[in-house]
Amino acid sequence: MSVRVRFAPSPTGYLHIGGARTALYCYLIAKAQKGSFILRIEDTDLERSKREYELAMIDDLKWCGIDYDEGPDKGGEFGPYRQSERTQTYLDIAKDFVEKGFAYPCFLTTSELEELTAKAESEKKSPHAYHGKYRDLDPAEAKKRVEAGEAHIIRFKNPRKEWSFTDMVRGDVKFPVDMVGDFAIIRSNGMPVYNFCCVIDDHLMKMTHVIRAEEHLNNTVRQLMIYEALGAEPPRFVHCSLLVGEDRQKLSKRHGATSVKQYREQDYLPAALMNYLCLLGWSHPDETDIFDINQMDSIFDLNRFNKSPAFYDITKLKFFNEQYLRALSVEDLATGFEKAIPSEHAYHAKETSWKLDFAELFREKVQLFSDIVPQLGLIFDETIEQTEDVVDVNSWETTPTIRDYVKTRVSEIKASGSENITSEEFKEIMNHLKKELKIKGKPLFMGLRVVLTGKTHGPDLSKAIPLTPISTIEKRLS
Ligand code: GLU
Repeated sequence: MSVRVRFAPSPTGYLHIGGARTALYCYLIAKAQKGSFILRIEDTDLERSKREYELAMIDDLKWCGIDYDEGPDKGGEFGPYRQSERTQTYLDIAKDFVEKGFAYPCFLTTSELEELTAKAESEKKSPHAYHGKYRDLDPAEAKKRVEAGEAHIIRFKNPRKEWSFTDMVRGDVKFPVDMVGDFAIIRSNGMPVYNFCCVIDDHLMKMTHVIRAEEHLNNTVRQLMIYEALGAEPPRFVHCSLLVGEDRQKLSKRHGATSVKQYREQDYLPAALMNYLCLLGWSHPDETDIFDINQMDSIFDLNRFNKSPAFYDITKLKFFNEQYLRALSVEDLATGFEKAIPSEHAYHAKETSWKLDFAELFREKVQLFSDIVPQLGLIFDETIEQTEDVVDVNSWETTPTIRDYVKTRVSEIKASGSENITSEEFKEIMNHLKKELKIKGKPLFMGLRVVLTGKTHGPDLSKAIPLTPISTIEKRLS
C-alpha cells in the first residue's frame, strides 16, 4: 500500500511555527517512503475560517519548500480537498450512521444541556454523564421529531468500552471507558464536527499516517470510534511533542514570533528554519545538526521522534540562520543585504563588485540579513562616536603617533587622485608603523582601527578600509 500523509490545517490564522513543523514531518515521512503528501483544508468552522488564511498558508508552505502532491489548488484523485466542499459526504454518512444505530438525533436544548452538565458536575461525574438522554429513544419516534423540524444535533453512540492504540511516538495509549460521552458529529446548524469530518476524509482519502500535534491525542479516542463504525482500519498515528517556550509553557505569542509569516518578514532563510524545526522532536541518525531537508529522503526515520516537549529557542534558530548565511553564495548574500538596507542609504549607489566585497566582508558578522544595518556605519559614518572604549584607545600613548602618520598618508593618497586606500597601501601603513615607528601588538591594531574607523571592533581592517571612501576616512581623522 502506498504511503499517504496529509497536513490538515484549519485556516483560522497564519501558519504557526508548530504547524510548519507538523507539515514538514508529514512531507518528510511521505518522501522518505516514496509516498504522497496531501494538503487538506479543514474549514468546517465557518465563522473562524477565512480564505485569506488558506491562501497565506499555501504561500507560507511554498516558502518553506514543503511541496504537496494533492491539495485544494492542485486537485487530485481524492478531492475536493477543502472540507467545506465535502459537506454532503459527511451528511450522507451521518444519516447512514443514524440508520445503522451508530448515531442518533439528540433534542436537548442548550439550557437543558447546561443543567445536565451542572448536575453531573455536582455529583462529581464526568460532565457528559447525562448527555445521552436521547440515546435509547425509539428510532421511529426520533425520526418523526426530526421530520417535524425539531431542533437537534446528531450524537455518536459511544460504544462505552476501553480504547487503545499504538502511537508511533508515545507507544501504547489507553483511554478509559468514560473519557468521552456521546459526542456531537453534526451541529444544530447542520454542520459536521471536526472529529467526524477528519476521520471520513482520512478514510476516503486513503491516508496511511496521521501526524499531528500532541493536543489532538484526546481527539483520537473519538476518531477510533468513528473508524470502527465505518468498518475501516485506522491509520498509524504520530502525535508530535509539544513546543514550549523558556518557561516550559506551550509556545504562544508571548514567547515571540510564532508564525511563519513573521520569520519571513524578518528574512530568515527557509532552509535554516526548516532544519531547526525538524530537530524539535526528531533527531538525525548521524547526530548532525545542520542538514538539508531536501536530502532527507533516505534518512527520515519514523523511529527517531522524541516524546518530551521540545524547547523552541529563537537564539538557537538564529544560530542556524547564521550557519546558512555563511554557506550562501556571495551573490545571494549581497542580494539579502541589498533588501535589508533602507532604500535611501548610500550603499545602494555602490557598484556591484563593491557590494560583493562588502557582503563577503560581513559574511561572518551577521545572523540575519538585517544585522547588516547597524554595521553599515563602519564603512559609511563620517563622524566618530566618542564611546568609552574609543576614548580609552585614544588616550593610549601611541595612538596620536598613529593618527599623525595616517593623516599624512591619507592626504598623499588622496592627492594622487585615489578614492580609496588599497589593501597594499593599508599594509604599507601597517608596516611603517611597525618597523619605523616601533608600534606593535594591541596598541598598533586597536589604535589603527580606532583612528581609521572610530570603532573598537569589526571585520578584517585590511579588507574594510579599501571599501571605505577615502573622503570618509579623512573626515574621521579631522
Ligand atoms: N484541523 C486540525 C488542526 O488544524 C488538524 C488536526 C489533524 O491533523 O487531525 O489542528
